[in-house]
Amino acid sequence: MVMDVEVPNLPLERLGPLIGNDRLASIQIRGRAFKENLHGRRIWNVNSTAAGGGVAEMLRSLVGYTRQAGIDARWVVISGDPEFFRITKRLHNQLHGLPGDGGPLAAAESAHYVSVMEQNLPELRERIRPGDVVLLHDPQTAGFVETLKGLGAIIIWRCHIGTNQHNEWTESAWNFLRPFISTADAFIFSRRDYVPEWIDPSHVSIIPPSIDPFSPKNQEIDDVNVQRILATIGLLAPESDQEPGVFTGYDGLGHHVRDVAEIISDATPLDPAIPLVVQVSRWDGLKDMEGVMVGFAEGVAPRSDAHLALIGASVGDVSDDPEGAEVLARCTDTWEHLPSEIRARIHLVSLPMDDLDQNAAMVNAIQRHATLIVQKSLVEGFGITVAEGLWKSKPMVASSVGGIQDQIVDGAGVLLNDPYDLVAYGDAVASLLLDPNEMKRLGQNAHEHILATFIGDTHLLRYVDLIESLLQP
Ligand code: UDP
Repeated sequence: MVMDVEVPNLPLERLGPLIGNDRLASIQIRGRAFKENLHGRRIWNVNSTAAGGGVAEMLRSLVGYTRQAGIDARWVVISGDPEFFRITKRLHNQLHGLPGDGGPLAAAESAHYVSVMEQNLPELRERIRPGDVVLLHDPQTAGFVETLKGLGAIIIWRCHIGTNQHNEWTESAWNFLRPFISTADAFIFSRRDYVPEWIDPSHVSIIPPSIDPFSPKNQEIDDVNVQRILATIGLLAPESDQEPGVFTGYDGLGHHVRDVAEIISDATPLDPAIPLVVQVSRWDGLKDMEGVMVGFAEGVAPRSDAHLALIGASVGDVSDDPEGAEVLARCTDTWEHLPSEIRARIHLVSLPMDDLDQNAAMVNAIQRHATLIVQKSLVEGFGITVAEGLWKSKPMVASSVGGIQDQIVDGAGVLLNDPYDLVAYGDAVASLLLDPNEMKRLGQNAHEHILATFIGDTHLLRYVDLIESLLQP
């Protein structure tokens, strides 16, 4: 039922050339003292997926860096049945202020949720010792708080989702979760305004997500390999002697991108010289891929020669992700009804998910190739795609919602006050495309801001601060 995730150790030193010697020394010194203070306690991360999704991606890096520093950090994944994941998806949506599938979160759901917790508990009990520190991630693991605390462990519940708009749905989700989590020793949220008012603020830490500059998603890829990767997937025209593009996996070895994307387009493969506007996200109504397309067709295409690529993960089998398939179908329908000369400049790209490292390298290459990146979400918990784009020094136009506001600071991108205003969005993109100097300036500032704020060492220091405060007698 419970799976241990093996994570390769990652040397913190590799961050040195990016973050500089002072920052590197500071995390190393804190790390050594922290290791002593732990006195052999282990740090556990518990979540419900080893692959796919931002939390898994982040854990792979953070646990890897922590282990290399000599700290016994572990990662275990619990299991559940389809009904459990229906309930937790409902919780996820409701914590975002949305009804989700509209189903209830009442006594029957609570009982089912508890039964899944109980199925996982024996194996967690075998692993976790009194005094260990346990980070429980997201609603899927909230039901462990009480029992693991009873074992003498220090329990931190981390919520990676949220909204500042508290409504009947957020209330419903919090009513469900509150009895499970209220005894946690500490809580972590990505933003202050996601914290429900009944949690004692002195028990709350605000820790936003971070990116790893060396992961397949964010590592430096040279132009040749960017072009090769994008030719392999079918987006760009291949060179005559085309070889597959290479990236470095989590195992430190070189890997090829060989998979092909599903592309809905009248014009691919594209000439690499064509300016490309990109939005990367799941095919999810809240990411408003359709609005990105319509705003581009009406406000950008007539004023520039740029193309637009909407990039999402493959929706696969419809039964897996009915919402993703529906959103892609709606976008396709809208695309088909565009005038042909505009339609030829818009491409709907679904990236294969069979090999997540290859998928990440594709996202990386697309973000690096983009002239300008958009994230026109209607709501957003954090929106790590924004940090990913900014890290690559790209000018961004994004909605001023949720965690996007923390990532795009003054002079490091363009924030859209009203995410529904397609005219303002089109104007912002079209005028930036005409101003290469401004795009360059924004991109440079963006990279600096991400470097200063959203890289793993900062994230780890915040963890150390919190855990050390909990170790105090
Ligand atoms: N993503 C990916 N492959 C894809 C499309 C998206 O790995 O084909 C990633 C994207 O790079 C980002 C994550 O999915 O790391 C989306 O996280 P975000 O916080 O932006 O939004 P969420 O999907 O969690 O709402």
